[in-house]
Amino acid sequence: PKMATGEAVTAVAMTEPGTGSDLQRIKTTATLEGDHYVVNGSKIFITNGYLCDMAVVAVRTGSAELGAQSVSLMIIEADREGFSKGRPLKKVGMRGQDTCELFFDNVKVPKENLLGAEGMGFIALMKELAWERMMIAIICASSAEYALATTVEYVKQRQAFGKPVAAFQNTRFELAEMRSEIQIARVYVDRCMELVVRNALSPEAACAAKYWVSDLLSNVVDRCVQLHGGYGYMLEYPIARAYIDTRANRIYGGTNEIMKELISRSI
Ligand SMILES: Cc1cc2nc3c(=O)[nH]c(=O)nc-3n(C[C@H](O)[C@H](O)[C@H](O)COP(=O)(O)OP(=O)(O)OC[C@H]3O[C@@H](n4cnc5c(N)ncnc54)[C@H](O)[C@@H]3O)c2cc1C
Repeated sequence: PKMATGEAVTAVAMTEPGTGSDLQRIKTTATLEGDHYVVNGSKIFITNGYLCDMAVVAVRTGSAELGAQSVSLMIIEADREGFSKGRPLKKVGMRGQDTCELFFDNVKVPKENLLGAEGMGFIALMKELAWERMMIAIICASSAEYALATTVEYVKQRQAFGKPVAAFQNTRFELAEMRSEIQIARVYVDRCMELVVRNALSPEAACAAKYWVSDLLSNVVDRCVQLHGGYGYMLEYPIARAYIDTRANRIYGGTNEIMKELISRSI
């Protein structure tokens, strides 16, 4: 409830310095000792990590040999003794968003903080990450629309060879292609959202939305920068900021290569 009212900031902490894509190899352990777990390990690249009041942390509650079967999820409040945070990491873009390291040094966590059953964390993540991937797809589709809109505005007013840049056939074809592709992305994302509402979206459809629309966004933003000429490389122009901010979409939420792995398993 506190998340809904904005009173609590939370984070989802899966990635570790030694493993990201291969989540079943996490090394952060939670060992049961009486009525509480003792958590040791660290996480990296955690969105909201610096500001979080609590985090949902992926931990290993059994032997590493069990792989995914010994991964569990646990809510860990930030004020627990032994839970510390690194400084926000210096990212290429998205500088307004905090991304940081979290450290767990013999953190005592009550048994009740286990989210779901022991060993079911990996399955829960695989199911629920579909929604995170949809959020990324939505952001990418709308960011692409924004990139195009700001570029249309720019090329109409920028003059070259005595006419607006928008008047060149190359510009018009670029805009036509981008608008078509962005509309196609939007229709697919909207369709996925209809399925989300009916609770019928498959994980692989969400993977497809995430990888395809984030790839499209990178492609669109790059072309929009080109249409801006040198101004497109200056941070005072929104398109330059979009260029550095949008890149991470192909990496987080599971890399686009991992999305294709997951899709291929369903074929
Ligand atoms: C801005 C930002 C915010 C983030 N927020 C969070 C967060 O809130 N919580 C969280 O837990 N994590 C977060 N992450 C971490 C992100 O999810 C990981 O960086 C990502 O999953 C990749 O893991 P990795 O960095 O360990 O790369 P690696 O797994 O080391 O991958 C390196 C390269 O190898 C490729 N690769 C790996 N395995 C395969 C394979 N089987 N087949 C083909 N290619 C493969 C990858 O696609 C990639 O290109 C965030 C990252 C960033 C940049």
